[in-house]
Amino acid sequence: MHPWTGPIVSVIPGTGEVPQIHDDISGGLRPSVVGERANLYVCGITPYDSTHLGHAFTYLAFDLLVRAWRDLGVGVRYAQGLTDVDDPLLERARATGKDWRKIAAQQTALYKADMAALRVIPPDSYRGVVESVPQIVAAVERMIDAGRAYRVPVAGSGASSLGDVYADLGADPDYGGLSRLSREAQDRLFSERGGDPDRPGKRDRLDPLLWRAARAGEPSWDGRTLGRGRPGWHIECAVIASAELDQPFDVLGGGRDLVFPHHEMSVSHSRALSGLEAPARLSMHTGMVHYDGQKMSKSVGNLVFVSELLDRGVNPAALRLALIGHHYRGDWEWRGRELALAEARLARWREAIGSVKPQGPSGETIAKIRSALARDLDTAAAIAAVDDWVSAAPLARERSPYAAADLRRAIDALLGIKLY
Ligand code: ZN
Repeated sequence: MHPWTGPIVSVIPGTGEVPQIHDDISGGLRPSVVGERANLYVCGITPYDSTHLGHAFTYLAFDLLVRAWRDLGVGVRYAQGLTDVDDPLLERARATGKDWRKIAAQQTALYKADMAALRVIPPDSYRGVVESVPQIVAAVERMIDAGRAYRVPVAGSGASSLGDVYADLGADPDYGGLSRLSREAQDRLFSERGGDPDRPGKRDRLDPLLWRAARAGEPSWDGRTLGRGRPGWHIECAVIASAELDQPFDVLGGGRDLVFPHHEMSVSHSRALSGLEAPARLSMHTGMVHYDGQKMSKSVGNLVFVSELLDRGVNPAALRLALIGHHYRGDWEWRGRELALAEARLARWREAIGSVKPQGPSGETIAKIRSALARDLDTAAAIAAVDDWVSAAPLARERSPYAAADLRRAIDALLGIKLY
């Protein structure tokens, strides 16, 4: 699937440092790339409530990582999935009387437009679940053959049903290593986030669905030996990532609410399919955006949408600057006044850097931005370095018209903010 048209990214003199990022598995800072190419998989949206600020915050964090990799001079291979069929989308279709495909298409288009407006570099591969069904079917068949999955009969279904298929977590001794949650916490989150702990016939309450046999009124696809049906949530990312990237790839990413059950389960499925300990060397997750005192979420009803802000005339560069001003791992509260502050900052930057008049040298400032981003994407420090340059610019003794141009390009290439 075509993602969106990406921005033209400026080239700046010199090269950046290897970005160190916090790895959720080992709990420390680790080099985000070790070879000539950096490989990234990020979970995409389920297209029914896109794109709220929590989504945007997540994809901007990975965009900063991609930009730092490009600045380092390594090749980048970035794959992103799209959950274009799943329970929440079908529920939305039922609730609104709209066709689920229409909702998915409209919301995916909105998401792409929002990403383009925010100058997010598109993934090299943008792949949906619907277009990946044959590979998912093959993977589930392999898991059954390997004794890592089992069928559960569907009560009251037609005689043709072969039943649903669940992964057998008991067959994975490494299960639980990513989230490291208590059994109670797992049980609670599994119920809250799309799991079905009370489904009769499962070996373990937490065993996740791999293939849902066709039900009346639900979309379904040919599942070969599985019978008609549709994929479960976690297997899709395991399959799309392995289809698009060599394993183990460098970074598996998403919002922190995906750590459990989504990534824990999908990493377990990847292990069953590849025999590797994990599909990725590192796991990177972003913090949650709150609004009105609670995490921004559909269930609370406190979503703020990128497209609505842009429709109201908000400058996308100011929105980007406001969002990346928060460290990617922290939880934080969205307040409208952040936009005004970002607008004011942008105006100061434009005044000092965007003009053609001579300004002070910027090499040191560009080095500071690079170092800040290499330290676990410390965007606040990177922004502060630009602020410092802007404050000191009129006093600089050495004047060069090229310095401001270099800094302008660096702010574009590294932070994704275009000042001209
Ligand atoms: Zn995913």
